[in-house]
Amino acid sequence: MLEIHAAEAPITEDDAFIAEALESASIPTLMMALIHITGDPGLLDGPIRPGPAAMGGTQGGLPEEERAQVRAHALEVLKAFRDGGCRLPPPPSHETIIRMMSFMVGEEVPDEYLPMMLEEMALDGDHRDVHWDDVPAEARKSLRVLVIGAGMSGLLAAIRLEEAGIPYVVVEKDDHVGGTWYENSYPGCRVDVPNHFYAYSFEPNHEWSEYYSQRDELVAYFEHCATKYGVRPHIRFNTEVTRASWDEDRGRWSVQVRPADGDEETLEFSAVISGCGLLNRPKYPDIPGLDDFEGPCFHSARWRHDVPLDGKRVAVIGTGASAFQLVPEIAKITEHTVVFQRSPGWMGPNPLYHERVPDGKKWLLEKVPFYARWYRFLLFWPASDALLRSFKIDPDWPHPERSVGPLNEERRVQMTEYIASQVGDDPELLEKVVPKYPPFVKRILQDNGSWLGALRRPDVDLQTSGIERVTAKSVIAGDGSEYPVDAIVLATGFHANRFLYPMDIVGRDGVVLSEKWGDDPRAYLGITAPGFPNLFLLYGPGTNLAHAGSIIFHSECQVRYILGCLKALLREGRRVIECRDEVNEAFNERRAEAVSQLVLSHGGTTSWYKNSRGEVTVTSPWRLVDYWSWTRRPDLSDFELR
Ligand code: NAP
Repeated sequence: MLEIHAAEAPITEDDAFIAEALESASIPTLMMALIHITGDPGLLDGPIRPGPAAMGGTQGGLPEEERAQVRAHALEVLKAFRDGGCRLPPPPSHETIIRMMSFMVGEEVPDEYLPMMLEEMALDGDHRDVHWDDVPAEARKSLRVLVIGAGMSGLLAAIRLEEAGIPYVVVEKDDHVGGTWYENSYPGCRVDVPNHFYAYSFEPNHEWSEYYSQRDELVAYFEHCATKYGVRPHIRFNTEVTRASWDEDRGRWSVQVRPADGDEETLEFSAVISGCGLLNRPKYPDIPGLDDFEGPCFHSARWRHDVPLDGKRVAVIGTGASAFQLVPEIAKITEHTVVFQRSPGWMGPNPLYHERVPDGKKWLLEKVPFYARWYRFLLFWPASDALLRSFKIDPDWPHPERSVGPLNEERRVQMTEYIASQVGDDPELLEKVVPKYPPFVKRILQDNGSWLGALRRPDVDLQTSGIERVTAKSVIAGDGSEYPVDAIVLATGFHANRFLYPMDIVGRDGVVLSEKWGDDPRAYLGITAPGFPNLFLLYGPGTNLAHAGSIIFHSECQVRYILGCLKALLREGRRVIECRDEVNEAFNERRAEAVSQLVLSHGGTTSWYKNSRGEVTVTSPWRLVDYWSWTRRPDLSDFELR
C-alpha cells in the first residue's frame, strides 16, 4: 500500500460532512476518484455511464437517480478510506487510466491525445518541471536570462528558470505581479475560461471562490505563485524595458531599462524571454473631437478608480469582452449608460459564469484523492480540439456570409436561439444584437444573461449608428442623436498585432523588429524568429487560442520549448541559437494556409485577430495536440547554433 499523495490532506471530517460535500460532486469526476481510492476499476464496466462531456456539463448528463447511487457508494468508500488511515492502493495501470479517460468524457479519447492529457493532469506529479542535474551548475550559471513581464507567462518562465538553476531577472513595468490581471481592474473583470484549469498545471487552486474568478482573486493567485516558487526576489518592479539590441560578437543582448524613479540603465543578458503578451497596450480610437471632451475619458485597461460613476451619465465605446463585463456592472450605478456598438459579438450560454463554488466542492477538490486532477481533465477535454471542426470553411457551403459549414451553422442557430430567448420580445434590440457574420470570426463571449439584461434596462441605450464626433460635453452618434455624458469609457481593445510594442528590439545586423514585422509578425511556433537570436516569445504571433484550451496551457508548452533551447546551448557548448529563415518561412506559409481554411479569416467583420490587411496574425489555427507535440522539445535542425 502507498501513502496518500502528498498534495492531498487526509480526510478527518465526519460522515454527515462528507455526505453533504458529496451533494456538490461532479459525478464523472467522483467515479474516477473512487477508482483510485478503491483500486477497483469495476465502475468502468457498470451500468452508470456518463454521456459526452461537451453536452452533459460536469455531470455527464446523468439522471439524478444515478447520481444519487454514485454518491451513496462514494460515501461508503470515503468513510472506509478515512477509517483505514487514508491509505491508497497502488495507482491504476496505464491501460486503466486510458479507459478511465474515455469513460469519463463519454467519447473515445484518441490515442494521440493520451500523452498530452496524462501530462496535463499530472496524476503522478509535474512532468513539465525542469531539473537540469545533468548540466553542471557552472554551465547553468554561465547563462543570464531576462524575462520581460511578471504576468502569467513571465512568472511561469521565471518559475522554470528558478527550477533549472539558471540566473535570471524579471523586469516588470508595473508595481505588482499579475500582468493583464493586474492592469485590468474595471468593474466586473473576471476570467472567462474555467478557473479550475485556468491555473498552472503544477499549482492547482482548490479554493477558487467562483468558477470564473474575478480579477482580485487572479492577481492573488499569481502573487502566491511568485512567492511560493521563489521568483519574487528576482523581480524588478516599476521598471520598463525600452530597448534591446543584439551584440553578435559577444553573443548577448544589451538591454536598456528605465526605472520609474531613476536613470536608464543598460544590462546584459545571454537570452531574453518576452512575457509581455499581446493585450497589454491599450488602443485608443481615433474619433473626431475626443480630445476636446472635458470630462474623464479613460480606457477599460486604465480604469480610473478616482472617478466615481454613481449617478453619472456614461458613454462606453466598444462591445468586446471588456465592455461585455463592465457594462452590466456600471449600469447598476450610473444614471444613464449609452453603449456604442460597431459590431455585435456572438455569445454562448454559461450558467456558471458568475456562480460561486460551493464549499462542498472545494472540500472534494482538496481532500478526495485525484478528484481535482480528473476535474481538470473533465474541463479540459470539451475545451480541447473538438471545437475546431466548427471553424472549418466548407468551400461548397451555400451561404458563406452567415456561416461557413454545417457545424458552424449549428452553432449559429444555437446562439441565435439563445439570444432570442432573452430579447425575442424586443425585435429592434434583437436585430441589433444578433451578428450578421458567422460565429468564431471574433472571440465568443461567455454569457449568463447579464449583457442583454443590462441592454434592456430603461437607463441603458445601445447605439449602433456609429460615432460622428465627441464634443466638450457629449457624444454625437452617427444618426445625429446627442448624448450629454459626464464620462467616456473606451473599451476599444489593444494593439494586439504590434508585438513587443513599444519596445525597440534590434536584432542581428541592426534589423529592427518593429520594421521587419510591421503588423505581420512571423515567428516559428510563435516563439522564435530568424535575425533575433536568443530571443524567445511567450504568447507570440499565431499562438492566441480561439477554438480551445487556455493560454496557460500554451504558455506551458512554450516555456518548456524555450528551456529546451537554452539547455541545447549548454549541452552543445554554444552561445547563440537562431531559428533558420527557411524553417520560419515554411512554418508561416503552413500557418497562413491553415488559417485560410478557418472561419477566423472570414472577411465579414473586424477582429483583433487580424492585422490592417485583414490577415489573421495572432491566432492559432492548430490543434492543441499538434502544438503540444511540436513544442515538447526543440528540433535542433531547425536552428543554427553558434
Ligand atoms: P476587443 O475585443 O478588441 O474589443 C474592442 C471593441 O471596441 C470592439 O467592440 C470594437 O468594435 C470596438 N472599437 C474599437 N475601435 C473602435 C472605434 N474607433 N469606434 C467604435 N468602436 C470601436 O477588446 P476587449 O474587449 O478589450 O477584449 C480584447 C481581448 O482581451 C478579448 O477578446 C479577450 O481575449 C481578452 N479579454 C478577456 C477577458 C476575460 O477573459 N474575461 C476579458 C476582457 C478581455 P468592432 O468589434 O467592430 O471592431
